[in-house]
Amino acid sequence: MSTVYLDHAATTPMADVAVEAMTAQLRAVGNASSLHASGRRARRVVEESRESIAQALGCRPGEVIFTSGGTEADNLALKGLYWSRRAEDSGRHRILSTAVEHHAVLDPLHWLGEHEGATIAEVPVDASGRLDGDALRTLLAEEPASVGLVTAMWANNEVGTTQPLPDVVAAAEEHGVPVHTDAVQAVGSLPVDFAAAGVDTLALSSHKLGGPLGVGALLARRELLLTPLVHGGGQERDVRSGTLDVPAIAGFAAAVEEAVKHQAEEAERLRGLRRRLVDGVRREVPDAVLNGPPAEDEEGLPGIAHFSFPGCEGDSLLMLLDANGVECSTGSACAAGVPQPSHVLLAMGRDEEGARSSLRFSLGHPSTAADVDALVAALGPCVERARAARA
Ligand code: PLP
Repeated sequence: MSTVYLDHAATTPMADVAVEAMTAQLRAVGNASSLHASGRRARRVVEESRESIAQALGCRPGEVIFTSGGTEADNLALKGLYWSRRAEDSGRHRILSTAVEHHAVLDPLHWLGEHEGATIAEVPVDASGRLDGDALRTLLAEEPASVGLVTAMWANNEVGTTQPLPDVVAAAEEHGVPVHTDAVQAVGSLPVDFAAAGVDTLALSSHKLGGPLGVGALLARRELLLTPLVHGGGQERDVRSGTLDVPAIAGFAAAVEEAVKHQAEEAERLRGLRRRLVDGVRREVPDAVLNGPPAEDEEGLPGIAHFSFPGCEGDSLLMLLDANGVECSTGSACAAGVPQPSHVLLAMGRDEEGARSSLRFSLGHPSTAADVDALVAALGPCVERARAARA
């Protein structure tokens, strides 16, 4: 039985160009901070990678800070900004966020609340997962001088909904408040331009777009003060110490370049596959509910289709599909083996039952119509069995 992989939002295979760029570095020696020729060679690879990422994403090379991935980039932006803003003015204790952020944002915010005196205000979202701009403006205007930062993800990893970032940036700008965006799912899937977006920091992750695991970046405006989380050798503008992983950075840069170059045509291809998937699921399971952007949507993530299957436990359905060679995700976290209803769906107004009965199918660069058809063929009997098991 061949496997159909429909979990590209969790991680996607490396692109050939990324494998080539990375393997070309694996046998080379040289610490990018060393002064001798081998060190300078390694440094050149890092700086060329930085330049190509900057070029692809509309920022200056000096604005790219390499990290170990999206989680670290989000942590650096949120804690780094919060601490530096509070050091300037201790009254800036509020952080405005949306209720549908990834745990890489939610958990550091929670931690800042528990340990560092932050007050977190969550901007509500509508039934599709889009934040309420009026609520954000009201929260900002309540006590603008107390706001340290605003964070709003570019695109949601569970349901694929995009946030109205231009509105967020405009509202925050009125009060001189910096904006962070988690663009981990957006880069490579949607057009992303750092300067044009007007945000202050932006997190991205290599393994979501065809690069290696364990590397990512925070794009941070040059003039922005960020308090470092990691202290040591002073690498990366003294904001993120640690010897740079030259092969991973080379692979990451090659993947970003490739994904951004083909973004528009690939998004169109994936939107076609998504429509096929949505039609097929609805045909096989007529009462399935599509969450997030509608089938014809042109703004959300092109590769994500998220459904609730009434009467099913999402996890059982996932395991039944897995046994039939189809790999997907519930999209939500599982704490110590106990399935949790997705905080994203709850914020979108679904009840616990609806939130627990959901699955995310996510498409990526290797996905084909045959993958979609295999899912559709397996789905009906699996849903029947999941319903019978539950009953
Ligand atoms: N933010 C979002 C929206 C994500 O989807 C993920 C990964 O699932 C992350 C952050 C974390 O990124 P990483 O796996 O590189 O730590």
